[in-house]
Amino acid sequence: MRDRILREALRVKSRESERTAAEKAELRDVVLAFPDVAEARSNYVSAVYGAPRSRNRASDGRVDDLREEYLATLARHGYSENDFLPDAPCPSCGGTGIHDGAPCDCIKDIFVSLLEKECGVSVEGFSLDDFDSSVLPATGQTELLRSVYGLMRTYTDKYPAVGKHIVLLTGATGTGKTVLAEAMARQMIRRDYAALFLSANELNKLMVKAHTSRYPECDSVLDDVMSADMLVIDDLGTEPRYRNVTCEYLLTVLEERSRRKLSTVITTNLSVERILNTYNERIFSRLSDRRTALVLNLEGEDLRTFVPKR
Ligand SMILES: [Zn+2]
Repeated sequence: MRDRILREALRVKSRESERTAAEKAELRDVVLAFPDVAEARSNYVSAVYGAPRSRNRASDGRVDDLREEYLATLARHGYSENDFLPDAPCPSCGGTGIHDGAPCDCIKDIFVSLLEKECGVSVEGFSLDDFDSSVLPATGQTELLRSVYGLMRTYTDKYPAVGKHIVLLTGATGTGKTVLAEAMARQMIRRDYAALFLSANELNKLMVKAHTSRYPECDSVLDDVMSADMLVIDDLGTEPRYRNVTCEYLLTVLEERSRRKLSTVITTNLSVERILNTYNERIFSRLSDRRTALVLNLEGEDLRTFVPKR
């Protein structure tokens, strides 16, 4: 997904450059048609092409003078030669859009705005750094949230070098799971990674679409779901469950993403035990295996054992 969006950003950038070059060429035609500019340029160009045959210091000096005169005439109209030249390729990336393995600054704004458009999360908004336990009552729940936010901050900062590719956030409605998952996705986008935020219902619809499409469309429907650096599945358990689709595709998504070492963050009101009853043994074991999944209950489970030492 990130590569696709990067390619799209490069296409947008190159269309912008072409547009700018065309506008500059148009401006050049207009300015060079001003009578005084046309005359100054004609004198200068004639001297340039006349000079090589009888090149000497005097003719070179005359070319320089006529060039100065031409530039001064342009300046009187408020222009310089640079106003007509196409933009030079970016010195950092040479126009490739990649600098030190990351999107170059020259396409960063385009890249991030495309990411934002497709990710379902805005870049601006509550971030993992914005959590302020001092404004909350000093309760065990606040302390728990503070630990979780710190832990998730470390997690997103370390990506892709994270050992556990599944983060399961459980807890009742109102415990802040979705806000936390959104803040994680936002953090990933700020780090130039592609995050995709989907409700379980939206994901389910995509899975049904993939199931009912023929090859190769079925393959491309879930492309971003399979390749986003971080996939958030919000409110697992609220989606309608379809035979041969919901469990089967969900397991495929989880397994394929783990195989690719990509992060999947799931929020759910279901307890881990209810996941077993609602889905199946294999999904349950994927989501609850603490060797590969971080299971965080936002309702008071002791998190100290999960908080990494700094
Ligand atoms: Zn660049």
